[in-house]
Amino acid sequence: MSSEATVSDDKIVVFHYTLTNDAGEVLDTSRDGEPMPYLHGHDNIVSGLERGLLGRGVGDALTVVVPPEEGYGVASGAGPQPVPRSAFPEGMAVEPGMHFGAEGPDGETMMLWVTEVGDDEVWVDTDHPLAGVTLTFEVEIVAIRDATPDELTHGHPHGPDGHHGH
Ligand code: ZN
Repeated sequence: MSSEATVSDDKIVVFHYTLTNDAGEVLDTSRDGEPMPYLHGHDNIVSGLERGLLGRGVGDALTVVVPPEEGYGVASGAGPQPVPRSAFPEGMAVEPGMHFGAEGPDGETMMLWVTEVGDDEVWVDTDHPLAGVTLTFEVEIVAIRDATPDELTHGHPHGPDGHHGH
């Protein structure tokens, strides 16, 4: 199937994907639900996948292999570190897989990922859970359209048809 529209900056691209790791284990898939929209050129998805989709058209099915450098980063190797449970607001539900921004030693914002929650300590890691992993995306492009002005301002899609504004 051919189409005039191709993936390029400021297009909303709607696609199905199945993500597997180096071992071939499925980490995530859209196949059990709706395809996912993203706004091309606005860091909505990892850079390696954006690069792989650039210039493609509706109906294209392809495999994109993304090295860690263009995925979720190279693992720093520092590993999870404990912080006191009391460092989190009382009543806040803290669970493995959560992530949040925190102030680093030099005042910069750093992302922390919760790996384990104990009674008195929460273990956090500066690495994304998929840092160091080569990502393989099986992708099928379902639709491509121009972004609406609102979507361009917000930097993300408002649903597949652009009408789920907020
Ligand atoms: Zn928005």
